[in-house]
Amino acid sequence: DKAFNVAAVRKHFPALQREVKGKPLVYFDNAATTQKPQAVIDALVNYYSHYNANIHRGIHTLAEEATAAFEATRDTVQQFINAASREQIIFTGGATEGINLVAQTWGRQNIKAGDEIIISSMEHHSNIVPWYMLAQEKGAVLKIIPINEDGELMMDEFHKLLSEKTKLVSIVHVSNVLGTINPVKNIIAGAHSVGAVTLVDGAQSTVHLDIDVQDLDCDFFVFSSHKIYGPTGVGVLYGKKELLESMPPYQGGGEMIKDVYFDAITYNDLPYKFEAGTPNIADTVALKAALDFTKWIGKQKIREHENELLCYATEQLMQIEGLKIIGNAKNKVSVISFVVEKVHPQDLGILLDNRGIAVRTGHHCAQPLMECYKIPGTARASFAMYNTKEEIDSLITGLQKVIKMLL
Ligand code: PMP
Repeated sequence: DKAFNVAAVRKHFPALQREVKGKPLVYFDNAATTQKPQAVIDALVNYYSHYNANIHRGIHTLAEEATAAFEATRDTVQQFINAASREQIIFTGGATEGINLVAQTWGRQNIKAGDEIIISSMEHHSNIVPWYMLAQEKGAVLKIIPINEDGELMMDEFHKLLSEKTKLVSIVHVSNVLGTINPVKNIIAGAHSVGAVTLVDGAQSTVHLDIDVQDLDCDFFVFSSHKIYGPTGVGVLYGKKELLESMPPYQGGGEMIKDVYFDAITYNDLPYKFEAGTPNIADTVALKAALDFTKWIGKQKIREHENELLCYATEQLMQIEGLKIIGNAKNKVSVISFVVEKVHPQDLGILLDNRGIAVRTGHHCAQPLMECYKIPGTARASFAMYNTKEEIDSLITGLQKVIKMLL
């Protein structure tokens, strides 16, 4: 069992070797997207260099190799989130598309006027807008779980919202702004007690936590490849088999059918029923490399390292006068949002970039959450397996200098 060595981990990520504005890059925008290890880049290059072909229908060697690689990712994902079977893994364009798929298929089939859909105050827009659109179309009602000052869901309020009108509870597993880890297992059990279906937005959790969809007992789970060291443009929707089977198709086209006549069409079996057209083959193939790499480094070791960074950065940031951390949940991942008195987050972001430090600023696609805190936005530093304490020191020094300049 090898020890975790951050210097060795960093060597796998070519982008970390570059400079920005003449300074070594400090990449703290991992909640937006992670950098890619060489293994992922190699998987893309290897696919396009040696076995680029369309999948599933071909009988020639390249098509067989491409199909095998594409389907191998499905098996790897199945194991990674502990799904019961590979047919329950649907490839999408990302977490956003996974949620829209459920809203447009299960949602349109099952949500009626007067039904209630529960989400929370800390949702990303991608877990608000699809349900808002569905609610508008059907005359359904969105109910919102409030949060406390520390950025934790108010569970007693959640239980009060539950009733026989509740048809869906769709909740973010880990907040992209606050880093809060939500008690999704309890939420799912609560939702099931009134017969509601559940969706977990795992866009931010899959990279940090061990995911076991069977233990969670969620009905749907979505995540994005690019937030877990994989390429952009591919994501995963997991669903319980009975639900996926009962749902109408999402998009029509090739692959998702068995037989097509102008007056009668039969749809394909799972998972292909939901994968119309030529999928994103290259990026899906490379997602396997990302998951294998993460597993090889060791999720537990990554988590311990990230927790150390979180504690260290939190301590250091709290020393800075006028700085306030937004979100102090007891259970959180390595994401820190903060505001500085009399300083606009965007100015912080621009001046930190001049020092080679990449943080995100703004509302982070969570405008209702900003409304809860009565702020227009935050600056956010989010840490991945390859970040270091020295980089946090650079952030702290940078912040002190930048704040002095701005005040
Ligand atoms: N949910 C959360 C919590 C996210 O952080 C994000 C990405 N910022 C998404 C959903 C959407 O993911 P994607 O843009 O990859 O579809």
